[in-house]
Amino acid sequence: MAVFDGKALAIYIKSKVAGEIKKLNKKLKLAVILIGQNPASEIYVRNKEKACKDVGIDFELIRFAETCKQVDVIKKIKELNKKTEISAILLQLPLPKHLIEREIIETISPEKDVDCLTQSNFGRLALGVSDFAPCTASGIIEILKSEQIAIQGKRVVVVGRSALVGLPTQLLLTKHDATVTLCHSKTVKLKKITKKADILVVAIGKPNFITKRYVKKHAVVIDVGINKVDGKICGDVYFKKVKKKAHLITPVPGGVGQITVAMLLKNILLLNLEKK
Ligand code: NAP
Repeated sequence: MAVFDGKALAIYIKSKVAGEIKKLNKKLKLAVILIGQNPASEIYVRNKEKACKDVGIDFELIRFAETCKQVDVIKKIKELNKKTEISAILLQLPLPKHLIEREIIETISPEKDVDCLTQSNFGRLALGVSDFAPCTASGIIEILKSEQIAIQGKRVVVVGRSALVGLPTQLLLTKHDATVTLCHSKTVKLKKITKKADILVVAIGKPNFITKRYVKKHAVVIDVGINKVDGKICGDVYFKKVKKKAHLITPVPGGVGQITVAMLLKNILLLNLEKK
């Protein structure tokens, strides 16, 4: 049983990115669009701002009220697309219900789409044309590599199929020659499937949902979930019990979340290397 140290890997990734940025000889700037006052989003955006500052990336926060209009958000993104000093654009999700998320995402120029959510960037990832991927998905690959967990030929189960996490994680793991099963809320007999996983990735947003009965002995368990219960942050995996059964487990907090932020910095860099 081992517990992954997200802080240590995040520091390592950030130091590598900072070194690459110095070599670039160009100022990078991330623009983040935050709509409404979702308390979790506020925390995520603050963490992203701090991480950018740590490695010398400028940061601009653009706020919209919860009741904002679709046209105004789209107009702002079009402005940001044109500004040469903006290297990357991040739309903080989730959006208020009245907004059409897909239309807003598609307005982001693919060259500035740091979360790899536009059809163009996601399509390139799906076709295997590019390795550029949403930050959490590429972060999961970094975690497995850093822990020297072999991916090729492994039976992997990903629970959760969102475009932000589950789906791109499935794509990247398949590209790394794992045999991947993607599960979701309509999956029948989930436990039977997850119990066969050598590597289990969980991204469902349900606190402590995955108990030890869902996990194979000595499996690698990657917990992406971030939930708040009684004022405390916890993952989708029942950490206390599952850690005794797993070969390796990522804690929440201090696991995948740390790596996601570090990979955001790497994605900003990658977008700008591709432009050169
Ligand atoms: P999402 O868009 O709400 O997607 C949740 C997915 O989980 C959906 O595919 C859903 O299935 C599936 N699901 C829900 N309940 C399930 C159940 N009982 N059994 C099996 N599948 C179930 O969420 P997301 O954006 O992927 O985020 C998931 C979690 O990760 C959240 O807690 C979020 O806060 C966290 N997160 C963490 C990071 C990080 O850096 N650590 C980054 C992003 C997100 P359907 O498709 O059938 O509805």
